[in-house]
Amino acid sequence: MRLTGIIWMCPHCLEDFEVFCDDGRNDSVVCWNWCPHCKQKVNMWIRFKGESEQIKSGISCEEAMKMGDRAMAEIKTEDGSLYVYSHWGGSELPDDAKQAIKAAQGRWGDDSYAMRIIVDQLTKGGRDQETGYGLLLKPNAEDEYNNDEPSVVIDLMENKLSIFRDGEQHIDFADIEV
Ligand SMILES: [Zn+2]
Repeated sequence: MRLTGIIWMCPHCLEDFEVFCDDGRNDSVVCWNWCPHCKQKVNMWIRFKGESEQIKSGISCEEAMKMGDRAMAEIKTEDGSLYVYSHWGGSELPDDAKQAIKAAQGRWGDDSYAMRIIVDQLTKGGRDQETGYGLLLKPNAEDEYNNDEPSVVIDLMENKLSIFRDGEQHIDFADIEV
């Protein structure tokens, strides 16, 4: 099953070539080591996640497979925090959090429902899959964006989203636009 094809330009010969994800999963890493035209090393990898894809280059595919794109979101309530870990979706976690908070808008102020909706939204890419996401009661996972502290904090007491990447950003739920 071919999920999708994208065009990549070789940095050496500037020729385009098309790459595909063939294995039919919606969260997969596909590696290209060589340009099919000039046969030079291109060291690129693509992550397919649902309809979207992300391209990175400059690291080996072995590194890419090992590395993932790891980050945590902390969901804070009066009774404590729940942590959502994403193995591949780290770079998108701030935007995913905004979307999840918006989806829970009707239940802001109702922690159990709001938390369930937010977790449901943040982990929907992993539904029916073994890997990709985790839930933790302590922040015992990796976060590549904030020294293994959660780089996204969703505070249900203050109705505030904080993002800790290249500085800090604090956004009131009411000001979130998606
Ligand atoms: Zn080439």
